[in-house]
Amino acid sequence: MSTLASFKDFFSSFLLVDFLKGFGVTGKHFLSKNITIQFPEEKTPLSPRFRGLHALRRYDNGEERCIACKLCEAVCPAMAITIESDVRDDGTRRTTRYDIDLTKCIFCGFCEESCPVDSIVETHIFEYHGEKRGDLYFTKDMLLAVGDRYEKDIAATKEADAKYR
Ligand code: SF4
Ligand code: SF4
Repeated sequence: MSTLASFKDFFSSFLLVDFLKGFGVTGKHFLSKNITIQFPEEKTPLSPRFRGLHALRRYDNGEERCIACKLCEAVCPAMAITIESDVRDDGTRRTTRYDIDLTKCIFCGFCEESCPVDSIVETHIFEYHGEKRGDLYFTKDMLLAVGDRYEKDIAATKEADAKYR
């Protein structure tokens, strides 16, 4: 280090320049708007494309949307989806089994993107947990129950995102 640099360094330390700079930053933010939130009572906004807990949706008449095409199962990079299907008496094909192992899922959203009938979706729900092995293995009934419960929110976020697609 040159003599001039050492000299500047000495006076900078002596006059507590760095301390005053830091103090200035604290002072600047002291009176500004508070940006911390009190989670879980307060929440930050989520994008319509946020990928949380999965759900299977129904049409307004109560019919399952899923037509058991298995595109979501094929595209899933984590191989987290298991589907079995059968043809009903009316000739339509429906799943007899639709399971998602959420411990394998990487929440990539490919299943939702691939679905031709907007059946499998990822909701805004992220406050869920499992307490024992198997709790995060979601069956068709569980996924339909999530869809039934949150259909209004799901439809609203789909609509909000539609104009960007
Ligand atoms: S979000 Fe991705 S990893 Fe999870 S089930 Fe869908 S496709 Fe598979
Ligand atoms: S959820 Fe969609 S992509 Fe998956 S099997 Fe059903 S219709 Fe096909």
